[in-house]
Order: sequence, then C-alpha cells, then structure tokens
Amino acid sequence: MKTQAAVFYEPNKPLVIEELEMDEPKTGEVRVKMAAVGLCRSDHNVMVGTRPVGMTPMVMGHEGAGVVDAVGPGVTRIKPGDHVTLMFIPTCGRCHNCVSGRTHSCVLSVNIAKGPQLDGTYRLRNKAGQEVGQFCLLGAFSEYAIVNQDSVCVIDQSYPLNAACLVGCGVVGGFGAAVNRAGVTPGSSVLAIGVGGVGMNVIQGAKMAGASVIIAADIVEQKLVWAKTFGATHTIDADQENVVDRVMEITGGAGVDFAFEAISRPHTIAQAFDATARMGKIVVIGLTPSNFDSLPISPLNLVLAQKTLMGTLYGTSNALVDIPKILRLYRRGQIKLDELVTNTYTLDQINQGYADMVEGKNIRGVLVFD
Ligand SMILES: [Zn+2]
Ligand SMILES: [Zn+2]
Repeated sequence: MKTQAAVFYEPNKPLVIEELEMDEPKTGEVRVKMAAVGLCRSDHNVMVGTRPVGMTPMVMGHEGAGVVDAVGPGVTRIKPGDHVTLMFIPTCGRCHNCVSGRTHSCVLSVNIAKGPQLDGTYRLRNKAGQEVGQFCLLGAFSEYAIVNQDSVCVIDQSYPLNAACLVGCGVVGGFGAAVNRAGVTPGSSVLAIGVGGVGMNVIQGAKMAGASVIIAADIVEQKLVWAKTFGATHTIDADQENVVDRVMEITGGAGVDFAFEAISRPHTIAQAFDATARMGKIVVIGLTPSNFDSLPISPLNLVLAQKTLMGTLYGTSNALVDIPKILRLYRRGQIKLDELVTNTYTLDQINQGYADMVEGKNIRGVLVFD
C-alpha cells in the first residue's frame, strides 16, 4: 500500500512530503493509522544537523497516536481497532533493564536513530526505489506507520488522540523528570528553565508533587503567561533578567531545591546548577546537540554545596505503566493535555509547524491527519 509521509533527506532543507510504498507488517509488527503527532524538538535537531542519524532518507516523527489497522504474525496483545500511543523507546520486556523495571533504558533503545526496523530491514521505499528509515523506529509523520509491537502502548479509546500523542514523549518526559527522576517533594521549590512541550510538564509534575514555589524561566513572554496557567507561581523573563539572581531573590537567597533544564544548552544547565540550593538536585532533560561536550560548572561548588547533577531519559518512566497513568490523571482533570496543543497542522504544513516551533509560538504544535 501507499502512504503520504514527511521525509528527511538532508540537514537544513525542508522535509519532503511524498508518497511512499509500504510493506505489510512483519512478525511482531503492527500497522497504525496515525491520527496525531506532536512536533518535538528532537526531530528538529535531526533536521538541522545537530543530531546525526544513521541514514537518509528517513521519515521523522516520534510523538504519535493512532489506531491499529493491521497486525503481523505473532502479535498477541494488540489487535486491529486498538487505540495506541507510540513509544519512542521500545520496551522489549526481556532485557536486563526492562526486567529490572527500567524500561526507559531498554537495550533496544540503541537502535532508535539508525533507520531500519529491529530486524535490520525496511518497510518503506520512495519513488526512486530507495529504502526509507523510520526515526525512533516509528516514522510517525506518515498517514500509516508500521511499528514493532514493543513500540506501542494500547490506551483507552475514550481519549482524544491529539492529546494522547503528547504523552508518548513531551508529557512523560517532563512529568517523569519531576516525579520519577527528581522526586519533587511537598513544599519544595522548583525551577524549570525552558517551558515548552517538555518544561511545561515539569511544572505540571512539580505542582502535582506538591511543590510550593514553581519558577518558570523562558525567553518567550507568551510561554511565561501559559506557564502560570499550568501551575507556575513565579516567572522569569530570561531575556531581560538574570535567572540566577532572580531565583535567589524569590527564594530568599537559598536557591531552589530542584532545578530542571529543558533547553539543552551548557550555559542554561550551568544556570540551573547555580540556581540550586545546597543539597539540591539539577535534572538535565533535553538532548544537548553533539557539538557541545562540556559543562561550565564549578566542581568545587558541586562538593561544597553537595549538589546532585543528573540526567533523565524518557522521564525515567516505565512507559507502559506511566502513559496510561498520565492519561488517567488527564481524565480526572489533574493534568492538562488539550491546553498544551496551541496549534495544529496538516502534513503539508509541517515545515511551517517547525518554523513556528523555532519562533517559540507553540507549547506544542500537533500534526493532525484526517
Ligand atoms: Zn520528543
Ligand atoms: Zn528491554
């Protein structure tokens, strides 16, 4: 069959919208009719060449939700008609990390930027006959996607898919950073640097965990306005104000207990470090472009102030548990998802969607299919 998709050919060129030839699902695979896909910065890092991938051409998109319309041989826990959120890190359920309860570090994650499916072969070809890869094993910017059953979380059919897609990356990433990785505590103080599609969910997670001071820092004024509606108690315009100085003012000179960095730049990671209190935790969320290889932080201060600097991948979540959990919180009105979607785009408008992301116009832009 054929599918319309947004294909990455080379850095700093627009994604090409084209029709691809698609195989049938192989053993252990399912075909998903995509409904909605979030426009996440990790795709953009590939599109501008700061995060290399194993091959081109490649269909981008990794924050998707849709409806299963076919299953290959050997698929038992998923059936046609199931609604699913895609997981950008698969859960094999058998490797050491999975059986230890750390599915965010499943050994299959080493394959997600290579291009082919897990058996090393491809499901897509372009008109020139080239084999086409799938980013994060998904390639969700496509009307249909053939994905491994290990990359799929079945969800309740009552959830709107253009909200449920976000839980596959940005929401679980930010919420999990606060709740799973940092363990934000009631009454604590929190700083989120960068309040887009991930950082806004740090705020939601920190609020739910009971933080009493939640400071949002960003250079986009509108995002600070939105941050207040998601639970921020204070905002810092990082374009106009010194982030560390303002945090110290707000916290009476102590610094915050937990600082989160969702910009993925060494200097903002250093700001998070410097704005953190003694014994505080600094959590780095975003994937820093590979051209950066060191952090300008004080090793002496690390010891004297006894700080903990940590990374988090996929919200340190167990996605098959955490995605349904977050959706239940959404149903109860405890987490906002619809409000994260500030604009929607059709497949033909996807390059405009990314231009809007770069300009800071969205919390999340979402690609929607008919
Ligand atoms: Zn993402
Ligand atoms: Zn595994």
